[in-house]
Amino acid sequence: MSKSHYFFILYCCRPEALIFEGIMKFSLTAFVFSSMILPIAIVANPPQIFFSEAAMKKLETMIPSNPFVISAERVNEMVSMSGLEVEELLIELIPIAKRFARPPISNYQVGVAALGKSGNIYLGVNLEFSGQPLNATVHGEQFLIVNARNHGETEIVAMALSAAPCGHCRQFLNEIVENPGLKAWDCISWGGDSNPSPPVFLKDPALKGGVSSVEDEKGQLQILIPNTPPRTLSSLLPEAFGPKNLGLAANLFVLPDVYPPFTHESPLVAEALRAACASYAPYSHSKSGVAIHTSDGKIYSGSCLENAAFNPSLSPLQAALVALVTDLRRYDEIVEVVLVERSAAKISYERSARALLKNIAPDAQFHLENREF
Ligand SMILES: [Zn+2]
Repeated sequence: MSKSHYFFILYCCRPEALIFEGIMKFSLTAFVFSSMILPIAIVANPPQIFFSEAAMKKLETMIPSNPFVISAERVNEMVSMSGLEVEELLIELIPIAKRFARPPISNYQVGVAALGKSGNIYLGVNLEFSGQPLNATVHGEQFLIVNARNHGETEIVAMALSAAPCGHCRQFLNEIVENPGLKAWDCISWGGDSNPSPPVFLKDPALKGGVSSVEDEKGQLQILIPNTPPRTLSSLLPEAFGPKNLGLAANLFVLPDVYPPFTHESPLVAEALRAACASYAPYSHSKSGVAIHTSDGKIYSGSCLENAAFNPSLSPLQAALVALVTDLRRYDEIVEVVLVERSAAKISYERSARALLKNIAPDAQFHLENREF
């Protein structure tokens, strides 16, 4: 039985299953995420899957103190121990993710948990920035994709959300479902407009008039929302506008597998250059990267991630802040930031980066490096 069938039956054909699932959710939440004692009444008519107290305590120890990335091995252990489907585990992790959200404007915490093709689970949260335009916000789904990309993930299989994804995020997610399976590219051989583009950004010769006619190439990313039947992204975003509409075969998850040698640079600049090289910038070709230095000497970096509809794109500083937050760091720990952009690039993130830093880390030094790469 497929997972979709499982959920269909669970939600549509067996009303009593809803009660069962509610019990399962409550019991897991109660045992794993708090110190509450499970009321006896809840298990008076035990379902087929029964959580012993010992098993639940062990499951609790399996959740890392920093849950932003849960390894495939750990996920398998948690699934085996709980008896939950991995999709159910994702839903259970939503409230855990929400605790790490930083929404000072809306106070609306978004929690996202997703299963990668590798078997890892990733969490995402929303980041809002007081004093900045609302479009500086990093949505939970965007956060999650950056988090997964930073850890080498190549595909998201299922994503559980605390609420239905907004239109902005549906558009952002569309950038990872078109053209799955694209190969890594060689950053050294791609020098921008004057050199051949890497394969990921080549015009797709199969396209006719720049519009895809192959609807079944759409990814089947499963979107899981509590108490709602699972949906695919393509069902939530029909007639999507994506890379193919612009005549491109691109996928946000594809990274270069060869980088130029940056070892002669300072560590901060070298990391910003590496991040710039790893950018996803098929529309402006304005590759850019940010590296953040914290007061204890750690470095966090981010790459710009563009979108076919432009506005859902993420700046390199936003992406670097995701890396910072996934390591549970504070913004005021930032002491220095380097932004690397291509010389004569069509767009620049300098002004927006300076403005955002002024709000969250006003004492941090900021450097812009224009490079040919
Ligand atoms: Zn959103």
